[in-house]
Amino acid sequence: MAFKYVILGGGVAAGYAAREFANQGVKPGELAIISKEAVAPYERPALSKAYLFPEGTARLPGFHVCVGSGGERLLPEWYTEKGISLILSTEIVKADLASKTLISAVGDTYKYQTLIIATGSTVIRLTDFGVQGADAKNIFYLREIDEADKLVEAIKAKKNGKAVVVGGGYIGLELSAALRINNFDVSMVFPEPWCMPRLFTAGIAAFYESYYANKGVNIIKGTVAVGFGTNGNGEVTDVKLKDGRVLEADIVVVGVGGKPLTTLFKGQIEEEKGGIKTDSFFKTSIPDVYAVGDVATFPMKLYDEIRRVEHVDHARKSAEQAVKVWDLIKRLNSNFYVPNSVMMLTEMFLKAFCIDLDTYFQFAIFASEQGKSISEYDYLPYFYSRAFDLSWQFYGDNVGETVLFGDSKPTSPTHKFGSYWIKDGKVVGAFLESGTPEENKAIAKVARVQPPVESLDQLATEGLTFATEMKVIAAYLLAVLGGNASPSADDVKDILCSVGAEADNDGIELLLTQVKGKDITELIAAGREKLASVPAGGGAVAVSASASSGGGV
Ligand SMILES: Cc1cc2nc3c(=O)[nH]c(=O)nc-3n(C[C@H](O)[C@H](O)[C@H](O)COP(=O)(O)OP(=O)(O)OC[C@H]3O[C@@H](n4cnc5c(N)ncnc54)[C@H](O)[C@@H]3O)c2cc1C
Repeated sequence: MAFKYVILGGGVAAGYAAREFANQGVKPGELAIISKEAVAPYERPALSKAYLFPEGTARLPGFHVCVGSGGERLLPEWYTEKGISLILSTEIVKADLASKTLISAVGDTYKYQTLIIATGSTVIRLTDFGVQGADAKNIFYLREIDEADKLVEAIKAKKNGKAVVVGGGYIGLELSAALRINNFDVSMVFPEPWCMPRLFTAGIAAFYESYYANKGVNIIKGTVAVGFGTNGNGEVTDVKLKDGRVLEADIVVVGVGGKPLTTLFKGQIEEEKGGIKTDSFFKTSIPDVYAVGDVATFPMKLYDEIRRVEHVDHARKSAEQAVKVWDLIKRLNSNFYVPNSVMMLTEMFLKAFCIDLDTYFQFAIFASEQGKSISEYDYLPYFYSRAFDLSWQFYGDNVGETVLFGDSKPTSPTHKFGSYWIKDGKVVGAFLESGTPEENKAIAKVARVQPPVESLDQLATEGLTFATEMKVIAAYLLAVLGGNASPSADDVKDILCSVGAEADNDGIELLLTQVKGKDITELIAAGREKLASVPAGGGAVAVSASASSGGGV
């Protein structure tokens, strides 16, 4: 079988890429998705959350992509209607990038012109380290829906039993909560001094550990599972810990991390930091081959670094970005006839003046697409999790000093608290538990804008207000700079547009980020000063009220 475009992998990134292909007008028969899984792309995070709940349970087709980001749910029929081939239950075991060929486990051959690698990650297994008894029955890992189904069966079969969760990260925390909600007696074991150490500070973790303990989860830190006991049926009966303790177990769930699935391409493609190296448009070192989602190591523009990100938000956005580029380059080629010799001369000219060819494409596309252009991927890291009645979001980078703010008592009725990360005098990361959508947007903005802070104590005292007021202050100052002491939301938008933002309906905070050539951090600092000098009930209040009514601030 031959296709113009093949997406290898049928997970989150594949689903969002397919939607973008359809948006861009892919023709029937041009696109195929090849997936090892038996079902159409779905929102994988549901597997460790509502999929396991005894009530309000999530089941397919309820969580096919793109519902996770509030979009249309792409049922299997959608792919048929669009003429997109969904080739399911098909594992590719060989990829030859030179001949543009993929070969499946049953020997079928698939040819492509353009390949998007979206193979995601696989779990790290305790059997990989030869842990004694780690292949016993009822020891589970959770990556794909068939594994979730097996876990659900075991939860039913071992009703009200004992569960041990190995690992204290995302999966460990979400699975411990899900098993507890299913009335299991749950122990969570991990070697680190606190849970989620790759993201949480000790202060953040203290809240979650106490909260979980209050819910009846037994947290065991500073040790690891070194073996498993089994009964005559080969089912797990207990977990042996390095510190000598033995925990009874009817079910064990292991969540000790993942690794990107790049083995098919080893030696054929450039890799970095464990993933497939791409540029900001997710093009790899091989022409016509893109990599998106968990497998891609891409330039993180905001931090001037290349990184790999194993989170759903990036999977969605990177997939869309890759396909948009495909579309725009395709349109450039089809809209203009450019002889090869002219193309080569143009390229030489651009290179001589150190102009990146991608910039040239954007400019050309800008001209051909009525003002639309594609920018480099400029990702702001965003992670989230939900467990019990808790829900947190994190934006930015978790580096530097930290301040904890808000009410982090595990028994508090609101448990609204958060943390900022401060590097080189600027806030670079922000975490918030139990935020409203508006508050979450505000912390995202802080992480993007990176405002300066003079005093960590003051930041801790201001807490969430620092984030929620920042936008108002910035808008206020820009308004004042524009000569209008009490502007309406529209006035503020006009002012932002006059200094470089693109006019649209996305609200003032987005416009603020688009203001190029202005040092927003300086504006905010000056804005704070200005605000302090305005008497209560004066102009700043008027701005705050009128701007809020515009829906953006
Ligand atoms: C249980 C769970 C909960 C999660 N919760 C969260 C969360 O709350 N928040 C968050 O930000 N992130 C979460 N994540 C991470 C998030 O789901 C991933 O980052 C995201 O799914 C990555 O998308 P992807 O398309 O790159 O890979 P995937 O969604 O993993 O898709 C990869 C696909 O490729 C297929 N495949 C791989 N190799 C082959 C092959 N050789 N042949 C054919 N098909 C192949 C796989 O079967 C799979 O269908 C969670 C992950 C898991 C497993």
